[in-house]
Amino acid sequence: MSMNYTFAPSTAVSVPVAGTTAQFPVHRIYCVGRNYEEHAKEMGGPGREAPFFFMKPADAVLYAAPGTTVAMPYPSLTTNLHHEIELVVAIGTGGRNIAAANAQRHIYGYAVGLDMTRRDLQNEMKKQGRPWCISKGFDHSAPIGAITLAAKVPDIGQATIGMSVNGAVRQNSTIAQLIWNVSETIEQLSMAWELHPGDLVFTGTPAGVGAVVAGDVMQGDITGLAGIRVAVVAA
Ligand code: MN
Repeated sequence: MSMNYTFAPSTAVSVPVAGTTAQFPVHRIYCVGRNYEEHAKEMGGPGREAPFFFMKPADAVLYAAPGTTVAMPYPSLTTNLHHEIELVVAIGTGGRNIAAANAQRHIYGYAVGLDMTRRDLQNEMKKQGRPWCISKGFDHSAPIGAITLAAKVPDIGQATIGMSVNGAVRQNSTIAQLIWNVSETIEQLSMAWELHPGDLVFTGTPAGVGAVVAGDVMQGDITGLAGIRVAVVAA
C-alpha cells in the first residue's frame, strides 16, 4: 500500500560504510560542545564542565568519499567560517539511559567529521542568549567520511585526531584528550534523548579551530578511519 503523500518524501540521508556496499542511514546528528580542555579554554570557558549538546539536521551531511575532494559551498551570512575536526560516533543500537559501561555495544562505527561553524553568528547568538541553530545547523555543515565498523578500530580511544588547511596543520590532538569520552558522552546524551540506530554523534573538537575561505582545502584524519578532504568553494 502506498502512502498518499502530498509530494515525494525526502530521500533518506546515508553515509557509506567503509569497505562494504552498505549505507548507514542517518537519523539525527547530535554534537557535543567544548569536549577538549584546550578548545574549551580557547572559546573562553573554564576548560571542564558538564557536557552540553546541540544538533544539526540529518541533511546537513556532506559525504566525503575516501580518495576524493568534496566541494563545500561557502555558506551565506558569514565572514568567519570555522573548521572543527571531530570524531563521529555512529549509533547502531538505540536506547535510553545507557550506562557508560554498556555504551560500546550501542556503537556501530566511527567516522571523521567536520563541525563547520559560522563563528561570527555563533558569537552573536551567544551574546544575545539566542539559539545556535543558524551557526551550526546550516546546509552542508557536517562533512563526514566513510564509517568504519567499531570492531575494526578497537583502539579508537588512543587515536590521533588532526586536520590541516592547504597542508598546514591547524588541529592536532588525541581522542584520549576528550573531557567526556565516547562512552560517557553516550551515557549523558541518552539521558536527554532516546538514541536510535542511525544517530551520529559529533564528539567535540580539540584546540586550533580557525577560519577557512573559498579556495582552501581541508584535510581531516583520525588514526584507523577514512580521512576526508573538503574544498571550500565560492557559493
Ligand atoms: Mn564542535
